[in-house]
Amino acid sequence: MRLPLYLFLISLFINSDKLCEYDSTEEEVSPVQITGKKISGLLPPIEITNYDERVEFQGSLGTPAFHEGIDYINEDKSILDVPVLSAYDGKIVYIRSGCPESDPLKENESLRECGAGWGNHIVIKHNEFFTRYAHLKPESIMVKIGQQVKRSRVIGYMGNSGRSDKRHLHFEIGFFSGDFRPCDSSQSFDFVVDPLESGF
Ligand SMILES: [Zn+2]
Repeated sequence: MRLPLYLFLISLFINSDKLCEYDSTEEEVSPVQITGKKISGLLPPIEITNYDERVEFQGSLGTPAFHEGIDYINEDKSILDVPVLSAYDGKIVYIRSGCPESDPLKENESLRECGAGWGNHIVIKHNEFFTRYAHLKPESIMVKIGQQVKRSRVIGYMGNSGRSDKRHLHFEIGFFSGDFRPCDSSQSFDFVVDPLESGF
């Protein structure tokens, strides 16, 4: 059934403000993200978490990224909770929670594709780009959907949920060529960029 034009326009307006929070054990698939051009004019980076090893972004312009962000790994058993901080000021536009982890430090064997493999994760909208913080510890998310956050705010704790083999934060910088679809269950960006090129 086709909506009359005015109803269609009203629904667009309503949807543009709608944000979603998924608390779900759904295992879904999302498209691999394409490597985009670096974003210029970003603020100098901050240390967004504590780590002892990192794995870099891999991808070349215009092709699907082989590794869509940077992994910050922390295997220090003596630290129970490793805080994860917002990289920039922004608005929380997507929260995925409900993904379990079989062990906080060893290869996760529970619902590895939960949250499309990102596990529990947060997406923050900045001016013209977005950041993603993935594999967060279950029940550790400290922010609410729609909330404005300042740079360096603790938003959750590093975890091992989703497709994760050790405790780590997978951090992405991405953007959309069209509109952000806040209520789709899979939140792939249209493009991701190498955070290292932004100084991370
Ligand atoms: Zn990763």
